[in-house]
Amino acid sequence: MLQQDLHIHTTYSTGDSAVVPEQTVALVAAVRHAKIIGISDHFDYLVNGDFESYETELRRFGFKVGVEVDGHSWVAEAKSYDLDYYIYHCRDQNADYRSLEKLVTTGKPVIIAHPNAFQTNLNRVPPECLIEINNRYVWRTDWKQYYAPFTNQFKFVFGSDAHQPHWLSQTVAHYVAMQLGIEEHLVF
Ligand SMILES: [Zn+2]
Ligand SMILES: [Zn+2]
Repeated sequence: MLQQDLHIHTTYSTGDSAVVPEQTVALVAAVRHAKIIGISDHFDYLVNGDFESYETELRRFGFKVGVEVDGHSWVAEAKSYDLDYYIYHCRDQNADYRSLEKLVTTGKPVIIAHPNAFQTNLNRVPPECLIEINNRYVWRTDWKQYYAPFTNQFKFVFGSDAHQPHWLSQTVAHYVAMQLGIEEHLVF
């Protein structure tokens, strides 16, 4: 069993074409692949959907309540919700770095989502942010070159970014972390 997985999508992210109807909160709870589970559905879908049911259902299963925030345009609204943590899309643009600093002022954990996929400049990311090694995306770039300069500068978390039941895994993320000598930081 994994120690922690805080990057998981469910049918509350319906609209994201990768999500399948079988990927319900109840299914994730039944599989229980990690000791600490957080669900992080897309904030932009949740605000137009049913955030209240989302939160209630996650709490019922003992899950942490997170959201994945798609860059600067969602930060002001995301800050007004009572969440356990944020996962943040930080594209390499000034507005995203500026809004990230505002998100950090909430005092809640902020995880930088699959930064290698966005070419996020980690030199511009506040040191209290957590850097994700994302099982879905980490292998798609030269991860050694991207992460190696920062292994001593940040705390790292691993995420499955599961949109489907068989994605509830961090196999590649763990391999990469081992190669880089990175230890997992447990957020909760
Ligand atoms: Zn993402
Ligand atoms: Zn995601």
